[in-house]
Amino acid sequence: MMSRPDLQKIAEERFLSYLKKEGARKTPERMSILKMVYEMEGHFEVEELFRACRIDSPGISLATVYNTLELFLDAQLVMKLQFGDARTYYERLIGAKQHDHLMCNQCHQIIEFCAPSIQPVKTQMGEVLGFDITRHALTLHGDCMKEDCPNRMLTD
Ligand SMILES: [Zn+2]
Ligand SMILES: [Zn+2]
Repeated sequence: MMSRPDLQKIAEERFLSYLKKEGARKTPERMSILKMVYEMEGHFEVEELFRACRIDSPGISLATVYNTLELFLDAQLVMKLQFGDARTYYERLIGAKQHDHLMCNQCHQIIEFCAPSIQPVKTQMGEVLGFDITRHALTLHGDCMKEDCPNRMLTD
């Protein structure tokens, strides 16, 4: 497995060539947001990233973080995830293994899992529907068993 600094370096190179291709500017803020994205743990929301970025760059605005994330999306450095709970999450794409998500209805913790049995479904449905299936997204929802999950407190 590649280390965080390795992934960061690959991400930086991809972003720089993206900026060049788009004729967009390399700014210290954009670079520091990218670095922070590759330091975040798991899935994160814009506000979390914004708070983390402000430690190094106190003058940074939420709008800048939003706009820069749009560039990262376009450059395929991050992926946007919506699980139907009105929140928007992001996760890194570089170094990420194919996985799906399980989310707790109550505490919103997100667990990643890999189910190889999805592969035959993709192949079969591709054949039936005449599609070359390129990706999929599967999200399971349930109540977790964590001690401090609000769900547990309600039912105990
Ligand atoms: Zn929970
Ligand atoms: Zn994930």
